[in-house]
Amino acid sequence: MEFIDLQRQYCALKKEIDEAIHSVLNKSDYILGEEVGLFESELAKYVGARHCVTCANGTDALSITLKALNISQTDAVFVPAFTFFATAEVVSLNNSACIFVDVDERTFNMSSESLERAIKLVKKEGKYNPKAVIAVDLFGQCADYDKIRKITNQYGLFLIEDGAQGFGGEIREKRACSFGDISTTSFFPAKPLGCYGDGGAIFTDDSDYAALLKSLRFHGKGADKYDNVRIGYNSRLDTIQAAILRVKLKAFKERELEKRQQIAAFYDKNLKGLVKTPFLQEGYKSSYAQYTIILKDGEQRNNLQDYLKKHGIPSMVYYPKSMHNQTVYKDYTLNRDELKVSQNLEQCVLSLPMHPYLTDEETQRIVDKIKESLC
Ligand SMILES: *Cc1c(COP(=O)(O)O)cnc(C)c1O
Repeated sequence: MEFIDLQRQYCALKKEIDEAIHSVLNKSDYILGEEVGLFESELAKYVGARHCVTCANGTDALSITLKALNISQTDAVFVPAFTFFATAEVVSLNNSACIFVDVDERTFNMSSESLERAIKLVKKEGKYNPKAVIAVDLFGQCADYDKIRKITNQYGLFLIEDGAQGFGGEIREKRACSFGDISTTSFFPAKPLGCYGDGGAIFTDDSDYAALLKSLRFHGKGADKYDNVRIGYNSRLDTIQAAILRVKLKAFKERELEKRQQIAAFYDKNLKGLVKTPFLQEGYKSSYAQYTIILKDGEQRNNLQDYLKKHGIPSMVYYPKSMHNQTVYKDYTLNRDELKVSQNLEQCVLSLPMHPYLTDEETQRIVDKIKESLC
């Protein structure tokens, strides 16, 4: 059994994907070819954003966004302490102050109360200028944008949505990657919508930002690509990846997202009461980038993971180290005692196999083995 079975997906979509790749080979328009523009239009439409600018990966998508918003060395950017490293990394790489915010113990997403305390603390210290919030849609569920947007409005901060895992999620029919002033996603193979290598995208409703993002991804080009009007990146989505993603987006919309939600519902039904199953806020739909359960403590979590492994069932700990516990951030002192929920989650979480090609027999076996281990 695979944790995420990309082979099964390829087998299911083989004919269409092979054709898509070959059509690019026949045209040989490898960089920003026709498929890239078509994919960007389809993505923007699906997400409900006016503009989509693809790029090389989800990390670049965030870095380019920070540049487009002109976030500087004297600015503070607020990120959740419980996330994939890239969310914090891009802020530090930009030489801005990366401020960690605790998460909600039920949703795994940024806590608006902790965010407000962190903003006040930074203002009081007076060393950095609070400038932006990067909210993460962890494990497929959108962050609490009703509350977070109120806070960014109140304090005059930019809101960036890191939708690398959120793609396909919704809040009351409004889709992930449409909640930020600028929003980003990733097409890393293991994400809800993945390609066959690296890829990413940036979304915005603002046409000035969109033009700036297009320039930044292509060496800061002006009207002509050999006239460089600013310092930028070399960060484009390959035409071949765009062609693959067009096939996969269709499958995602038609079947795969729903299948993920059905598998999650099966896990929910069978594991409720035994472990803490993922909590969805009212009106929210998750794309289940991960199906993550919470155990009583580290010992129970590790025992369960060992038991599953012994029976050939893969599971993962996302994430074993919160940001403030990463070696590179060992000197971070500002609000360490604030980050208690993140600190606890890294001990107790376990992510179960989740992909749209899991069979009923497999999910039943996973549930049975979890029951055996815990009862
Ligand atoms: C995967 C991920 C990224 C980075 O995406 P890449 O395409 O791997 O660069 C950023 N943020 C989060 C939350 C992620 O899960």
